[in-house]
Amino acid sequence: MDLLELRADFLRPEEAVRAGALLRNVDLPVILTVRRVQEGGTFTGDERDRIQLISRIGSAGFAFLDLEEDCEAPGLEKQVHEAGTGIIRSFYDRDGVPRDLTQRMAALARGAQEIPKAAVTPRGARDLLRLLEAFEELGPTPKVLLGMGPYGFPTRVLAPKLGSLFCYSSPPDVSAAPGHLDPGTLDEIFRYHLIGKATEVFGVIGNPVMHSLSPRIHNAGFAAVGRDAVYLPFLVDDLAAFLEVADRLGIRGLSVTIPHKEGIIPALERPDQSVRAMGACNTARRRSDGKWEGTNTDGVGFLAPLREAFGGRLPQGLGATVIGAGGGSRAVVHALSTNGARVLVLNRTVQRAQQLARELGVKAAPLDQAGIREMGGGFNDLIVQATRVGMSPEAGEDPLPGYTFTGRETVYDLVYVPETTAFLSRALGAGCRVIRGSQMLLAQACEQFLFFTGHDFPGDAKQELLRIFSRYPA
Ligand code: NAP
Repeated sequence: MDLLELRADFLRPEEAVRAGALLRNVDLPVILTVRRVQEGGTFTGDERDRIQLISRIGSAGFAFLDLEEDCEAPGLEKQVHEAGTGIIRSFYDRDGVPRDLTQRMAALARGAQEIPKAAVTPRGARDLLRLLEAFEELGPTPKVLLGMGPYGFPTRVLAPKLGSLFCYSSPPDVSAAPGHLDPGTLDEIFRYHLIGKATEVFGVIGNPVMHSLSPRIHNAGFAAVGRDAVYLPFLVDDLAAFLEVADRLGIRGLSVTIPHKEGIIPALERPDQSVRAMGACNTARRRSDGKWEGTNTDGVGFLAPLREAFGGRLPQGLGATVIGAGGGSRAVVHALSTNGARVLVLNRTVQRAQQLARELGVKAAPLDQAGIREMGGGFNDLIVQATRVGMSPEAGEDPLPGYTFTGRETVYDLVYVPETTAFLSRALGAGCRVIRGSQMLLAQACEQFLFFTGHDFPGDAKQELLRIFSRYPA
């Protein structure tokens, strides 16, 4: 059911008294809320003024009136009941999830007509787990139970699956509470109106993770193949607690990003060869016996656009420089060296480059003029940028300003926001062929989609996503 909430505390006093006029102009049921500052609203008057304002406009025909747990206004309640308006009885915890959440929710409604509502603030995966336990303990009674902030985000998108009557959203760029999405994003990316009890849940775990592009990709794929599934970002501070969350939600598959790519491995019943070779897992799926199995799609995702650029296969004796020695670089170096390339790794912390080089049987040098001289020894057919340098919000930096492109190099940047980094822009200016991080991101996600669903990622959806990514900030 779609509802509109009128937050009269955001109106000027002369507008607020005329707020009932809104009802003549909308054909949706409307909730009236005049939220106090202590619950995150903007109403600064005293409680008597607030009740008076609500009384003045409350009989105009609103579907619901939102009143707080401690609001004592029997006259007002009688008045709105007589006007046929329901009451949402709410409480807020902006600091955490109360220990007695279930009991407090159960005791909230004063009479069968009232709907209990709580908005609490999970501070980590363990708190999210407690929220999910409260849903189970409360059973199918009508209620609204939402987690604010990034750790609570899944309870908003999954409201119809978990058993909340509705979730709240705000207009784009005006978030009325932490974690609100705008209705367009909720529907276009997360397909909120299609979510129900049977909807399968997938997601990406990481920290940070809320700005991941993976939900855009996988939800577009689910839409294109008509699968009743949704893919969410899960901010995860505590992997063990999150795996319990995953059990409760029956999560079917996960993309795994920094810092959990190594930590997830002990939870896998059967890490495949790619996970063992790279010492990192970026994709896990649930088997029918409930156990997890994992793979790593970074190598395949890295190679797919590279092979395409070289007409199907890597040239014999390709000499490559990889800048960076983190997780992304490890997947790249492994993929290149197992496909016959000669690889030189350059890194700011040269010891990390040397360690990686020893493990994978390649060469290492520091990220400076000495490293640039080493590149001259036949390692510059391909240059792969695999550090965070150039990534938004610190865009504009160049990891290798001392290197002069000849125009014959193929230059591949793993960074995908912005779409064209300063490094790629300099390479383009010199006439180099370039490959963008968004191409790898999409290729590795398509591989994940296949691992999750057994379906190839639909080609039309892939083209549309590449068009969307090309509009990301330059
Ligand atoms: P990571 O494990 O944290 O490694 C970060 C690397 O960046 C390290 O080598 C680090 O050098 C280097 N670095 C950081 N700041 C630097 C600076 N100011 N100057 C020089 N070097 C610096 O990260 P990661 O997972 O490898 O990811 C690296 C980048 O690749 C990120 O932008 C990520 O989004 C991207 N990525 C993209 C894809 C894709 O699908 N397109 C896949 C994986 C990764 P030190 O060792 O000296 O600290």
